[in-house]
This record gives sequence, C-alpha cells and structure tokens, in this order.
Amino acid sequence: MKGGALSVRARLTLWHAGVLTLVVCLFAAGILLFVKARFYSELDLQLSRELATVDRIYREEPGELPDLAPHWGIALFQVTEGSNVRHSTEAWEREGLARAPQDDNVAPASWSAPDGRHYRVQRISAPSYSVAAAIDETPLRHTLWTLAVILAMGVPFAIGLAIAGGYFLAGRVLSPIGAMADKARLITAESLDERLPVDNPRDEFGRLATVFNETLSRLRDSFERLRRFTADASHELRTPLTAMRSVGEVALQGTREAGAYRDVIGSMLEEVDRLTRLVDSLLTLTRAESGRIALTSVVVDLGELAGSVAEQLRILAEEKQQSLSVHTAAPVKARCDPAILRLGLMNLLHNAIKYTPNKGEIRVGVTSALPGQAAIEVQDVGPGIAAAHRQKIFERFYRVDAGRSSDMGGLGLGLAIARWAVEANGGRIELESEEGKGSLFRIVLSAATES
Ligand code: ADP
Repeated sequence: MKGGALSVRARLTLWHAGVLTLVVCLFAAGILLFVKARFYSELDLQLSRELATVDRIYREEPGELPDLAPHWGIALFQVTEGSNVRHSTEAWEREGLARAPQDDNVAPASWSAPDGRHYRVQRISAPSYSVAAAIDETPLRHTLWTLAVILAMGVPFAIGLAIAGGYFLAGRVLSPIGAMADKARLITAESLDERLPVDNPRDEFGRLATVFNETLSRLRDSFERLRRFTADASHELRTPLTAMRSVGEVALQGTREAGAYRDVIGSMLEEVDRLTRLVDSLLTLTRAESGRIALTSVVVDLGELAGSVAEQLRILAEEKQQSLSVHTAAPVKARCDPAILRLGLMNLLHNAIKYTPNKGEIRVGVTSALPGQAAIEVQDVGPGIAAAHRQKIFERFYRVDAGRSSDMGGLGLGLAIARWAVEANGGRIELESEEGKGSLFRIVLSAATES
C-alpha cells in the first residue's frame, strides 16, 4: 500500500509504533549490556579477592591451602613454582582448568571447558611462584540469558500495546477533525451562518476551526454584499425602465402633435442616459472589484490634475453660478495612475457642485501638509453630511436622501468609485463635515520623492 493511501490515523500509529520499537529495542539492549558489565565486574572483583587470599595463605601458612575449599569456599585454584605444581584443588584438576589460557598478570578471561561449563580465569605471578584461580560463570550466563529472553519477549508485547494504544489515542485526538468535516459538508451557500464546532480554541484543531469559521464569516459577508448589490442594481435599473414604459404607454394613448412626441422621446432619452451612466458605473465597479483594471504608476503633479478636472466641470458650476477655485501653494507630486485618480477626484468635485446650492463656493486645494503626504481637498458649502451617514455614504447605492439625490441624477455609486480609485492608488479618503455647514473630502496619497 502506498504511504499516501493510508489514513492520518494509521500513519500516526505506524510512526508512533516505529519510534517506540526503536526506543524499546535500544533500551532493552542497553539494559542487557549494563547488567552484563556489572555482573562481570562483580565476578572479577570476587576472583581477584580469591587470588589475593590464596596468595596470602600460600605465603604465610602454605599448609592450610587444602582448607580453603571447605572453609572459604575457594574451590578452583592452583599454585605453581616454575613448572612444579605446589597445590592444585581437586575441582581444578577435574575441570581440566590447567588447559585454560593463563597468561601472567593480565585481566581475567572467560574460558569454556569441554563439558560446556564456563569459567572466569586469572593468574598472578610473584618472582618465585604463581597463583591461578577460577570462578564458575555458568550461573551468571544463565541469569543473563534469562534476562535476554524476558526482554526479547517483552519487546513485541510492548510494541503491540503501543500500536493498540497509539491507534486508540490517534482516533481520539483526530475525532474533532471528523466532526469538523461532517459539519463542513453540511454548509452550503444557503447556510453560511453555520459554524464548525470549536472545543478548545487554543489547540491546533481549535485554531483551524476558528480560521475556517472566520473565512465563513467573510464569505457570508461577501455573499450578503453581492446579494444586496444585485438587488440594488436591479432596483436602480428598473426605475428608468418603468419610467420609459409609462411615458411610452401614455404617449401611445391617442394621437398627439409632433412637439408632444418630441417631448416624450426627450424624456425617454434622459432615462436612457441615466441607464447608460448606471451601467457604466456598475461596470467600472465590477471590473475594479475583480482586479481586472491594470493600474499604471507615474509621478503626477496633483495641482495640474486638480486644475484640469476643475476646468472640465467648470461648466456645471457656472450653470449654478457657483465659484469654483483651485489653490496650489507649491508643486505637489504623487506616484499614481492619473486616469483612475482623475475619476475619483471628478466624482468628489461633481458631488460638491451637485449638492452645493446656487451661488455657493467650491474650493479645491492641493497641499502636502504632513511630510511625505500629498493631499487634494474638495471643500463645499453644501448641506454637509451628518455623522450617522459619514461611513455609509461610501457604500454602493447608499444615499442620504434618495429622493433628492435621484432628482439630481445621483446613482449612489459616485463615492464608492471614488474610494476605490483612491485606495487602488494606495491612498485613502477622509471626510470632515458638519450638517448645514458644508463638507470637505480629502484624498491623501504618499508624496513622490522623485521629480
Ligand atoms: P450620488 O450619486 O447619490 O451622489 P454618491 O455615492 O456620490 O451618490 O454619494 C452618496 C451620498 O453622499 C449622496 O447621495 C449624498 O447624500 C451624499 N454626498 C456626497 N457628496 C456630498 C457632498 N459634497 N455634500 C453633501 N452630501 C454629499
């Protein structure tokens, strides 16, 4: 089976069991080696004590050597002087220990007798004699062997337990994922208010569910905005269509003079004009939101830009006998897309002209009040905007006074487009206004350093 085909639970269990097997094997081998080393060092210590006892007895009371086996339990030793054996125990002879390799004054060594028994043998030498002794190490080997068997049987048992425990634990740990998947499967575009269960928001799964829930909230908001946008757009499109239809129906009732038909066609064309502007604005916003408008970035003289926008709209201000002035103290430059920024500024200035009463004053100022910042201010003496509406007027189709705005040809999209145009250029729009005392819209961009 390929690794990728295994479930996370199975993979976790296998990894866990694999690592545990390695650890248990290393641990068992370590125990065996440690116990073996301890046993042999104890044995060698006992052997060196026996050698010392035999040596002392041989030097001080050689006649007592035969008593060593019954009284001291030292049964395997031999004392030689040159090639003459001075004393050799009966067991030493019986076991054939004389054949064991016996180098003088070296560390104890193990030797296997022909009958299968194992001995630890050492020889120490004085100038005129040498003493050799041995200890049976067969019981020690049995003990080590028993330990090895116990460990060898215990390791598979421990691994089996680890696999079972790991599988159970992995199942428990991963169960929130299953619950999340079940819940997520039920969430559709119609039930975006549903949320994934979050048992513990601080653990990894809790954080995943929280992030997913936040994404769902954003999706729901986008869906809601889209739904509202579609409803508003349909409503806006229906109004001029209804107007055209009723004007047309009234015109068709009875015969009229040519002048009357011209009036009907004129008012229909006005509605067509409104429809065209609406569709153009919707198209701009939709393309802006989908990121399909490619922005250029050049250094623009904001004073020049403001002057040219003001000139373009001056005719509208003159129609209302408004005074429209542009003030630029010093050249202020910013890096932006001039066509897009122009669109935003045009909407702000158009609004100022639209909402300022006849003979009112409109002022466009270009400043760099704060270091590194460039600003274009559009100030009017119109009705101003109450605090409650200040944030909302930038939303699509939001109008403070829908009736008045429509009368003035407003679509409720101008400020939404203006905000996008400024933000797309890395800036922001600020609004200062007081009801009844006019408004000041400020486009803030970062100033360009190069000329
Ligand atoms: P509209 O096409 O209705 O002007 P906008 O998005 O341009 O739509 O503006 C939204 C609302 O903000 C307008 O309906 C109007 O009530 C208000 N508004 C915008 N500019 C001004 C202004 N300069 N003075 C007063 N009110 C304004």
